[in-house]
Amino acid sequence: MPEKASHIARLLRRFPRGHLAVSLVLAAATGLFMALPQSGSSLAEASSPRPLTLPHPPEPAQDGNQNTVAAEQTPDRDWMELEVTSGDTLVGLLNDQGVSTEAVHELVSSQKQLTRLADLRPGERLRVDVADGGRLEALQYQANELKTLSAERGPDGWQVQTHKRSYERELQYAEATINSSLFRAGQRAGMTNSLTMQLANIFGWDIDFILDIRSGDRFRVLYEELYLDGEKVRNGDILMAEFYNGDRHFQAFRHEMEDGRVDYLDASGQSVRKEFIRTPVEFSRISSGFSKSREHPVLNRTRAHKGVDYAAPTGTPVKASGDGKVVFAGRKGGYGNVLIIKHGQKYSTLYAHLNRFARGIHVGRRVEQKDTVAYVGASGLATGPHLHYEFRVNGVHRNPLRVDLPEAGHVPESERRDFLVEANQLKNQMALRAEAFQVARNSR
Ligand SMILES: [Zn+2]
Repeated sequence: MPEKASHIARLLRRFPRGHLAVSLVLAAATGLFMALPQSGSSLAEASSPRPLTLPHPPEPAQDGNQNTVAAEQTPDRDWMELEVTSGDTLVGLLNDQGVSTEAVHELVSSQKQLTRLADLRPGERLRVDVADGGRLEALQYQANELKTLSAERGPDGWQVQTHKRSYERELQYAEATINSSLFRAGQRAGMTNSLTMQLANIFGWDIDFILDIRSGDRFRVLYEELYLDGEKVRNGDILMAEFYNGDRHFQAFRHEMEDGRVDYLDASGQSVRKEFIRTPVEFSRISSGFSKSREHPVLNRTRAHKGVDYAAPTGTPVKASGDGKVVFAGRKGGYGNVLIIKHGQKYSTLYAHLNRFARGIHVGRRVEQKDTVAYVGASGLATGPHLHYEFRVNGVHRNPLRVDLPEAGHVPESERRDFLVEANQLKNQMALRAEAFQVARNSR
């Protein structure tokens, strides 16, 4: 089994059914919806004030394949902890401990990995063992949350080792029904806004979160929480999400390809990403939809409205809704400043009433999806600032909100089996968690 598949399997194995239901009910009952740390030792560490997270001594690796040092190799040290503040240098910090400038240079230049120490940044931490007489015996430096460098003076000079830790991961569940907004619902479910944003991004290809959301829509998610030493560091990724939008139902499973790319796939392995985003302007509202006939607000004549109008303040960025090439950027009568992007052979998008174009936008320029290509304005015949947006398929105007968008890739054939196994495990977890959530709610 490849490494990523086994990671999810490992995570899921840690939640046997009975244990899960009980702990979830307990957790919900106490209002504490956090998984308990896995071991007594990490519990003890979690209760002390957040210490320097340098290994002391290094903890045994979670996985067999980790490059860590066994605890008994580390002799007893008389560590002094140093925090880097603005203006500090390694030389300055160590001089304060009685270490000579020469000795510091010798250390830093002894190994390539240690050159990093010459560029300390405020907030970083070091740990040093300085013997009587200012002799530096050992140094530890936390290069980042997960990586620590250790240097020890040995008989043949400095020996450097890298300690790498991995996060402890906990699977977490949330669900909510939307009354007013997606973000409110997310907050009620205990989700951070960035997690809700992740959710919106996953389904943003199929659901227009401005226009399509109805009261009663609901979602549920399985996501990871990342811990170090039993303390939560942050939320990780959404592993599975479901969205019920009216009578539509969407599912997405996070999948890491063997080449490292990450995508969200539906249950059949098809990417949920499309070649286009539905809404080319953020923080807007639809002020006029696509219609076969309507009264033109300025011309006072009835004619078809072949696009969608998004009301937004002047200067709001307009995003390219897909990868493509600019084929027109200039004035066009009542449309004012207009940008047209061609996407492949079949599709084109048009953006009108623009205040101005983004820097570097000109005919022939290649743009990528979500690039800012222009800014909302009221040029041409417009009653107020808005983006008029058109979507054409083979030259024919289509409703940008409803047109079937071309789909991006799918899981590679060689990974399909693993993906389906993963997806099934996640589906089972989702069902168990939903059940436990229901039990907990009914018993309140
Ligand atoms: Zn319009």
